[in-house]
Amino acid sequence: MKEELMRKVQLSDKEMPKQWYNIQADLKDLPAYLNPQTLKPVTADELAPIFPPEIIKQEMSQERFIDIPEEVQDIYRTYRPTNLHRALGLERALGTPAKIFYKYEGGNATGSHKLNSAVPQAYYNKIAGIKRLTTETGAGQWGSALSMACNHFGLECNVYMVKVSYNQKPFRRTFMQTFGSNVIASPSNLTEFGRNYLAKHPDSNGNLGIAISEAVEEAVSRSDTNYALGSVLNHVSMHQTIIGLEAQKQFEKIDMYPDVVIACVGGGSNFSGFAFPFVKDKLQGKAKTRIIAAESSACPSLTQGVYAYDYGDVGHMCPITKMYTLGSEFMPSGVHAGGLRYHGMNPIVSKLYHDKVIEAVAYSQNDTLTAGRLFAQAEGIIPAPESTHAIKCAIDEALKCKESGEAKTIAFNLSGNGYFDMYAYDALMKGELGDSSAENIDKNKIVLPKIEGLNK
Ligand SMILES: *Cc1c(COP(=O)(O)O)cnc(C)c1O
Repeated sequence: MKEELMRKVQLSDKEMPKQWYNIQADLKDLPAYLNPQTLKPVTADELAPIFPPEIIKQEMSQERFIDIPEEVQDIYRTYRPTNLHRALGLERALGTPAKIFYKYEGGNATGSHKLNSAVPQAYYNKIAGIKRLTTETGAGQWGSALSMACNHFGLECNVYMVKVSYNQKPFRRTFMQTFGSNVIASPSNLTEFGRNYLAKHPDSNGNLGIAISEAVEEAVSRSDTNYALGSVLNHVSMHQTIIGLEAQKQFEKIDMYPDVVIACVGGGSNFSGFAFPFVKDKLQGKAKTRIIAAESSACPSLTQGVYAYDYGDVGHMCPITKMYTLGSEFMPSGVHAGGLRYHGMNPIVSKLYHDKVIEAVAYSQNDTLTAGRLFAQAEGIIPAPESTHAIKCAIDEALKCKESGEAKTIAFNLSGNGYFDMYAYDALMKGELGDSSAENIDKNKIVLPKIEGLNK
């Protein structure tokens, strides 16, 4: 086939990677997770009330490659390997000499990359004898993925869904219930944290940090119950590396290597998954790839936050970790990209940004959804509002190539589809989106833990 007509690169079932890549093996001086009471590094014993042994091991592992269990590979193969698409339609629409590729992670039933971590997390809990999982969900993608995975392995699943999404996205709720999950609007009356919060803020619409506190509280209080997190932590990022490892094999097949690698960032998991295998090459001096994280200007943790030890949740039950953060009390506006409304960031993504291995940009929802609509018309997939941030960045890079005449290879991760997010596109077309950017955040006003000796 003529190279200029190639539309996608496929891998067979047999070619699917059988190990995840753990970037911790290739990075030195990663800050530890700290116990907020003692300020000592968190031990495996302290995490045992909420996570199964294998997940705790992975969270702190120094092993470079970790085997994907057969049972997990078996489910991965129902929707993986995913295709690497050449965005010929988008290239033509832009009139750019750049070659644009995207990895499409929205092709599974749940519509996003999150299933890549939900499956192993449910599996490791199952083999540890756990009967129930609790979790939080914002826009609903993570709750949907964990519901499907729990249903597969015969686990009960309690999902604390941020109240604003619970009311605005009834079909996400129905999706989770279809797979047998119990969906609770957060803040709720089911937990002490939720009751206390509601007493102070009876009209609260909730946010991810509150829902995390509720889900963790329930998991801590019952021995048959664990907690599962859909982003931010290292084991989640590692599970997602199946995306980038596949992409590397696909680029190898066509004898190409991307000059620019892009993904959107909320807590950092799809970015990690797509980019870390390319970061590895860059750290080893094998490539000079530019690697860009695209975030929401409503919640610009990297581009406007501070690099400091902070809490991961509003209730301050979780370990503290050094990351780019806007402070655990930061309340982003209700943008449609619900998955990008998290105050912090995965600690490794934070360190790579701090060390200038990767770059970051922030975009408003008007700009990103406009880019998403252009992408839909050019490529035939309506992207998730979160994913449109990566698309906007890829388009900007492709337009720079148009100016300079360079035929760079640009690759981005299309983390999910937007078929549950039609309100976002409806608002775009009616001109009702509004700009919800957080303007000029004052770094001195970011609320960090008030703990003696920390963040000096
Ligand atoms: C959850 C979600 C995100 C943001 O989460 P990350 O952990 O940063 O990847 C991005 N895109 C989609 C489609 C999501 O569902």
